[in-house]
Amino acid sequence: MNELEKLATAAHRAYTRGLQTGNGGNLSSRSASGKTMLVKSSGGSFIDCDSAGNGFIETDFDGNVLPGASGKPTREVFLHGLMYQLSDSIGGVVHTHSPNAIAWAFSKKPLPQTTLHMQLKMGCDIPVLDIPSATVRPEDADQIRTLFKANPKLPAFILVGHGIVAVGKDVLEAEHTAELIEETAQITLMKAICEKLGVY
Ligand SMILES: [Zn+2]
Repeated sequence: MNELEKLATAAHRAYTRGLQTGNGGNLSSRSASGKTMLVKSSGGSFIDCDSAGNGFIETDFDGNVLPGASGKPTREVFLHGLMYQLSDSIGGVVHTHSPNAIAWAFSKKPLPQTTLHMQLKMGCDIPVLDIPSATVRPEDADQIRTLFKANPKLPAFILVGHGIVAVGKDVLEAEHTAELIEETAQITLMKAICEKLGVY
């Protein structure tokens, strides 16, 4: 699979699994050169992205559209560029407004490794960052850098009132991580409800 095929597959998986509805969320992939990124265009839906390149645009890590490309990148282009500059091992980024993860993040507590699968795959709690903005801004970068300095292998974090940011060696791995986090958040919330109801 080339990068566009991976991006389209990841976008469709995230949409059909309910991680992202409408035209929100965004995802990207480090390009083959390693120095630029293919990032979702502004305004489109995950479900309309395709492997021909519709729905994506190539930019540098500062969000500047490459010569010859046309269109406007997602408003989260700063976040995507930041993640690739944080670590050479990051090859894909998926950001989704996933309901259960958002509901959990209002607690402002890290998402625990509630299931054995989560322990096996992630091996760490998922930190929650309280950034009071609908987009990640340059002034927020230090909070994210601090997280990855503490754990260079961190697979994701969750933004309060906003959503999941998952990373991976490629965009497919990042999307799978976002799915696992959303699933874990749902189970964690259900468990909390069951405990409250006295089910166990
Ligand atoms: Zn967002």
